[in-house]
Amino acid sequence: IPDDYKPAEKALAGKTILITGASDGIGRSAALSFAAHGATVVLLARNVEKLEKVYDEIEAAGGPQPAAIPFDLSQDAEEPFIALADVIEDQLGRLDGLLLNASILGQRRAIEQSAWNDWRDVLQLNVNSQFLMAKSLMPLLRQAPSASVVFTSSGVGRTGKAYWGAYAVSKFATEGMMQVLASETENTSDIRVNCINPGATNTAMRRAAYPAEEPDTNPSPDAIMRSYLYLMDDVSGERSGCSFNAQ
Ligand code: NDP
Repeated sequence: IPDDYKPAEKALAGKTILITGASDGIGRSAALSFAAHGATVVLLARNVEKLEKVYDEIEAAGGPQPAAIPFDLSQDAEEPFIALADVIEDQLGRLDGLLLNASILGQRRAIEQSAWNDWRDVLQLNVNSQFLMAKSLMPLLRQAPSASVVFTSSGVGRTGKAYWGAYAVSKFATEGMMQVLASETENTSDIRVNCINPGATNTAMRRAAYPAEEPDTNPSPDAIMRSYLYLMDDVSGERSGCSFNAQ
């Protein structure tokens, strides 16, 4: 991210951006931050109550009216994802940004001790749902004048680490999917595809992974939003196929 990047007040005005995992943690902060910079945000997660809270916060702050779509990304079928893309096209008419942020940690055990069900659940959500989201929404993203797809990686998606099992493998796959999609769109100057590794951030996921850690030692999700804004802002138009660190 350029050192001098400072998002303009309404840097994302006119854009419609879908955020997965918008009910909590980093996705929630991204939704609030994109809306504060003028974007119409589409909030996607399972927990309706938490989605409504984020929705209300955006409205109370005077942001563009958001949309909230309760949706379980772990569904093992393509149809719900196609239907989701149809709803977005019908009700919002466009999509300029897609932040694929939702994921689960799963068990942290040696591969030898890992449960098959858990392995499959982590890969289903963290990898397969990203494929289904990207696949079903690409036609809409292609129509946007300048579209940005952002995947979410992790340090253990770049160097494997004992006991991080399916989660680490899913993040390597995420980096790979980003590179494949970026390569497929490299001659399409109006779509960029990148990855962000948020780094240790004070969320429910981090607290679950490191129960003995003092939560305040890590930045809040709000404190790491600069790179998320940069990748959704058209000033990053030339960047594609890159993996960024938010910290
Ligand atoms: P949280 O666990 O705090 O939030 C996860 C979000 O994903 C929630 O909004 C949750 O909503 C949603 N989600 C989970 N399961 C599903 C599902 N089946 N369908 C739809 N939505 C779902 O995670 P973080 O904010 O910490 O993490 C965000 C991203 O950043 C993840 O990809 C994570 O791997 C990555 N990351 C985080 C780090 C950290 O230190 N926090 C470090 C490195 C990477 P709901 O329960 O309502 O469905």
